[in-house]
Amino acid sequence: MKLILLGPPAAGKGTQAELITERYGVAHISTGDMLRAQIAAGTELGRLAKSIIDDGNLVPDDIIIAMVQKRIAEDDCKAGFLLDGFPRTIAQAEALEAIAEIDAVLDIDVESELIINRVASRRVCPACGHTQSVHEGEQELCAKCGDKLIQRADDTPERMRHRLEVYRERTLPLINYYSERGKLVPIDGARAIREVSAQIFDFMDGAIASAAREDYKSDEE
Ligand code: ADP
Repeated sequence: MKLILLGPPAAGKGTQAELITERYGVAHISTGDMLRAQIAAGTELGRLAKSIIDDGNLVPDDIIIAMVQKRIAEDDCKAGFLLDGFPRTIAQAEALEAIAEIDAVLDIDVESELIINRVASRRVCPACGHTQSVHEGEQELCAKCGDKLIQRADDTPERMRHRLEVYRERTLPLINYYSERGKLVPIDGARAIREVSAQIFDFMDGAIASAAREDYKSDEE
């Protein structure tokens, strides 16, 4: 299956993406992770992207589109993929249409106030990239590899308010775009991690079962 995970920043896209790729074996394509890897490697693209990302703005469409196009052409994407953080603009969605036919768009819906609260406790592991939340009094160590967690520069409450504005202006129109094309699957993202993934798995299992039935019918004919 070829899927898109849509939703505001810190809606839990990365967390759900890990659970989905683990269960269904599709490739995880996170444009945020790809850009952060470029920054860490000190490439020209990384240098260009760093200040844009830290300020909470969007990296130019042509750069992102070229990066995703190249990634989707890799072998591990043949069996399906999950786009996380892309498309973020109508121009990116239109470019994607020329690259691949998407089966469904999972739209994780979370209200702004909850996002600001979540971001205050969101930490990322600089060693393995794992994201988790920390609560007061807890040691800030990665649950996966034990390294000391850090807060992303674009995760402060002020930057997050700006990123939410950018989301509303540039990304929110995609909900209509995909709804008009009959691809939108609304997911309530305000619930606990397992409850959010249960909604996603229900949809995915149903879609896989109905595709299998279609295959069976066409074999019979
Ligand atoms: P989050 O997980 O908080 O939603 P991401 O890790 O996906 O954020 O992205 C971090 C930043 O990387 C974005 O705020 C933006 O600056 C840049 N970025 C990621 N994906 C895209 C994209 N598709 N188009 C433009 N910029 C992007």
